[in-house]
Amino acid sequence: MPQELLLQVSPEIASNESLLKTHLSKQIKVSANEIQHVAILKRSIDARQKAIKINLKVSIYLKGEPFQELKIELPDYKNVSNAQEVIVVGAGPAGLFAALQLIELGLKPIVVERGKDVRGRRRDLKAINRDHIVNEDSNYCFGEGGAGTYSDGKLYTRSKKRGDVTRILELLVAFGATGDILVDAHPHIGTNKLPQIIQDIREKIIECGGQVLFETRLTDILINNNEVQGIVTQNGDTILANKLILATGHSARDIFELLDKKKVLIEAKPFALGVRAEHPQSLIDSIQYSCDYRGEHLPPAPYSIVKQVNGRGMYSFCMCPGGVIAPCATSPGEVVTNGWSPSKRDQATANSGIVIELKLEDFKPFAKFGALAGMEFQKSIEQKSWHLAGETQKVPAQRMVDFTQNKVSSDIPKTSYVPGTTSVEMGQVFPGFLSQILRQGFTEFGKSMKGYLTNEAILHAPESRTSSPVRIPRDPLTLEHLQIKGLYPCGEGAGYAGGIISAAIDGEKCALKIAEVLQKN
Ligand code: FAD
Repeated sequence: MPQELLLQVSPEIASNESLLKTHLSKQIKVSANEIQHVAILKRSIDARQKAIKINLKVSIYLKGEPFQELKIELPDYKNVSNAQEVIVVGAGPAGLFAALQLIELGLKPIVVERGKDVRGRRRDLKAINRDHIVNEDSNYCFGEGGAGTYSDGKLYTRSKKRGDVTRILELLVAFGATGDILVDAHPHIGTNKLPQIIQDIREKIIECGGQVLFETRLTDILINNNEVQGIVTQNGDTILANKLILATGHSARDIFELLDKKKVLIEAKPFALGVRAEHPQSLIDSIQYSCDYRGEHLPPAPYSIVKQVNGRGMYSFCMCPGGVIAPCATSPGEVVTNGWSPSKRDQATANSGIVIELKLEDFKPFAKFGALAGMEFQKSIEQKSWHLAGETQKVPAQRMVDFTQNKVSSDIPKTSYVPGTTSVEMGQVFPGFLSQILRQGFTEFGKSMKGYLTNEAILHAPESRTSSPVRIPRDPLTLEHLQIKGLYPCGEGAGYAGGIISAAIDGEKCALKIAEVLQKN
């Protein structure tokens, strides 16, 4: 039996197998040559002390002990070509993992996606960055893999059900992600690696007899006697099936409008909104690791910060170490920011959404829009930002200290946001109460993280797509819409997930519920 050990080592030892073996050999009192293999089971960074340590949980295999490299196999996917069909709208994490789960359960998914496949999508991202052209069906939020494809690929979640999380992580590994994601306390994949994994998932769905239809936008849901009959797409084609997983994400405003028009119950939902802050990565490293230079063995430092300001939570969101700020608008006439990182997180800057929790009462000026009030509030800020920054994909920007002092920045250095920035007093972007909380909050952040509040940090606005402004309510047990039989609101857009992992888990849950119902009938 291999010996399991918990230990703390220096970053250098943790990143060098031979040094680690030597270190362990002293601990367990055998010669280093006797150690055949060290399997890392868990890894996290302890940056609380000046000398940073890496916490490891390892299994030590001595010579002669049976040892096999970890190989995670795909589940036993069935051929579902002739099986009962289920429509899955949206090929984001929720839709794709729903489709895989349906196949595992012997059902045939027909995945309908408004955007292009990962390759085709790349050209449209270039057009946003370079030419300021936003394709309403193919952008950083829409297209194969959904909003998660060109992201940092952070895979942590607040979900308490570790089993569900592990299952998704293992599936990602089986589809080509590095095994490190099963070990790291804060796993991430990176923008350069995600597209291939997503393409492999799509190919598996098709290989098993499922269908994936790109550039196919749902424009109507056929409902009879409060029961789903099928969908209509933008070309007027109909696809008939009485089970529909609606996983269209938090940016599909046309879906929320369609449901509202059809009087299918939806509700306004609070979300969070703010700016995306960018610091030099070296500055964040020096704050988080209490050092001038992080050295070659530590990864670019992340940060996470939360404060209560005027009774509201203000917190960092989707922090991307060594990353880039991306233009994430889904329609012309608006600007939206978010962030991504490559797997090595080797860019010179660290960015993070810094957002404030909103309350339903904040949407009062938009009350006439009913359940869409939050969405209209969100849209108004994105459109105002577009207008203030010059009606292109440039974003309003301001240096952080200048913002706290109500001063327009005299210059904005080049940031990672490729379309460019326009120096604007951020106070103009947000309603007064939000600007005030942000100003106060950054001052508070500066007190807890010495060096954070600096004019070297550039704020970009807005960070507005943190979660869905609408909930599509469903029965907590059956996961079916409260009114419409056969409709399964799913993932982040429906208000039941926040992030890649929780969206994927929700996709699987909806597929399982559908299989349960079909088995009973
Ligand atoms: P989505 O991923 O939004 O997918 C919905 C899909 O539905 C899209 O592909 C869309 O094109 C399609 N669709 C919409 N309307 C229609 C229609 N009418 N007809 C057909 N198809 C339609 N989360 C993390 O956990 N970690 C991260 O590091 C991270 N970084 C991010 C970085 C960026 C730049 C962005 C934009 C998001 C990031 N997120 C991250 C958030 C994460 O991507 C989402 O939480 C997740 O993708 C939600 O999954 P979903 O399947 O519910 O919806």
